Amino acid sequence: MKRSLTLFVLFGLWLMSRPGLALDESKIIDLTYPYDEHTISWPTAKPYELEVVAAQKTDAGYWYAANNICLAEHSGTHMDAPIHFAEGKRTASEVPVTQLVGPAVVIDVSAQAAEDADYRVSVADIQAWESTHGEIPPGALVLMFSDWGQYWPDKKRYLGTDQPGDVANLHFPGFSREAAEFLVSQRDIDAVGVDTPSLDYGQSQDFIAHQILNGANKPGLENIANLDQLPPRGATLIALPMKIVKGSGAPVRIIAILP
Ligand SMILES: [Zn+2]
Repeated sequence: MKRSLTLFVLFGLWLMSRPGLALDESKIIDLTYPYDEHTISWPTAKPYELEVVAAQKTDAGYWYAANNICLAEHSGTHMDAPIHFAEGKRTASEVPVTQLVGPAVVIDVSAQAAEDADYRVSVADIQAWESTHGEIPPGALVLMFSDWGQYWPDKKRYLGTDQPGDVANLHFPGFSREAAEFLVSQRDIDAVGVDTPSLDYGQSQDFIAHQILNGANKPGLENIANLDQLPPRGATLIALPMKIVKGSGAPVRIIAILP
């Protein structure tokens, strides 16, 4: 007994003495779209812009490059802070990093979405996932996989419209009211995410999934890239938004570590 304890302590010391846990890089997936001229924003938002301040060799002989960027909080791969649709709830800088790191639960509704661009994730979809993979674990980030990423950056197909300001013709899948209610009242989740522009489906008029999820202080991740590379369960998600004080949202770098 004493000998095994000594071995255990020695093993612990050996672990701690290592420079850092070796991570298999092939298991790290980038779930973020690039910011460039193709970046998709909400039709009413200012498009992303990069203004070159400098990009040349200076008189002193060294190279110098710098830019100014202008972006809407809700453009590209980004986080909706709870205050986006819920007065008094957390702003972008107030969302703790611990709320955006956790087990990824990937609900595959790609077959339904292929049939219906206005599809909404149902409670039955969540229960179907649970009947195969077990109950959604506490602290999970629940992600809708609709396979909408195949349309990025084609606005006409991804949003339903390529006209600025045209919110009447938005078509893409999202979470239903019932699914949002189920997740905040029946499960102990940390956040939700979608591979579409919004937690609510394109034709939503009341943004009820946003209201319910944000109202429960749950942030949302939108325009998540490469979700087709994640297994239904077992991956760890790490989402790190810009720490914008008073932000209703923020650009976010999201990665997943595969099991
Ligand atoms: Zn948003």
